Amino acid sequence: EAAGPADYAAALDAILAQVTPILGRGRVADYIPELARVRPDQFGMAIVGLDGQVFEIGAARQPFSIQSISKLFALILALTTEGDALWTRVGREPSGSAFNSLVQLEYEHGKPRNPFINAGALVITDILCQRFAVPANAVLEFLRKLSANPGLSLDRHMALSELGCSDRNAAMAHLMKSFGNLHSPVPAVLDAYCGQCAIEMSCVDLARAMTMLANHGRIAATGERVLGVSPTKRLNALMLTCGTYDAAGDFAFRVGLPAKSGVGGGIVALIPGECGICVWSPALEVSGNSLAGSLALEALTSLTQKSIF
Ligand code: GLN
Repeated sequence: EAAGPADYAAALDAILAQVTPILGRGRVADYIPELARVRPDQFGMAIVGLDGQVFEIGAARQPFSIQSISKLFALILALTTEGDALWTRVGREPSGSAFNSLVQLEYEHGKPRNPFINAGALVITDILCQRFAVPANAVLEFLRKLSANPGLSLDRHMALSELGCSDRNAAMAHLMKSFGNLHSPVPAVLDAYCGQCAIEMSCVDLARAMTMLANHGRIAATGERVLGVSPTKRLNALMLTCGTYDAAGDFAFRVGLPAKSGVGGGIVALIPGECGICVWSPALEVSGNSLAGSLALEALTSLTQKSIF
């Protein structure tokens, strides 16, 4: 018997009890100096229903660096301006390698495997660079709307911190440009990319932003359509197959929900027709996904018996 919404509160209590002993296990991302300073044992989780009801536990209102979760929203924004033409420049296959890997780019002629690895996200950001004067602000504005929180901001220290050590992303961008798959100047793309990654949001903000994807592309509170039914389905499929990098197979096996992670320790997910979800805990496993966050989502689908399967 699947759980009703009322059971989410009880599930969150049980999840906190389950993850508390392992909080802090794993490692915070330390290749970005500003992220290395985040306390690893923090934890928060939020579930927002399509009816707007909020269930939360722990530090669910604490803003954190969304990092690669921004790739999802940048992609949605690019899809709204570009439509399906976008898929000529980026693929939709799981990469099976690390989020910041360069190896496949060379033999796939500068076309990244999917929009959620860094190479793919840089192409999407390049598209936004052609459309918006300040692309990171366009992503920020879009997220303010989806989360119904006009107070969202972008941490410039974080953006500069990443920009100062972005040789690997720069290498990817230059390689893609050599293949003709990047149009803007590399520094402009890196600047926009580091900016969107440095947006700060809480679990409640992100869970609310995700309700649109649980609602066939309409903002639940207003009914406004952001994305078509088919593109929404595809995006959710893409999250399932590519949203947690080279751990996506294991994640789908254990959790069974479309999800997207970031090295800030956040993971967003959704249950179609029901709710948006976000969990945050900064210590990561080897693929760069939150260790406690993955376990919390696994516990959620086990406890409530809700998944897309
Ligand atoms: N800004 C990070 C990077 O490019 C995002 C990576 C991530 O969250 N997986 O390395």
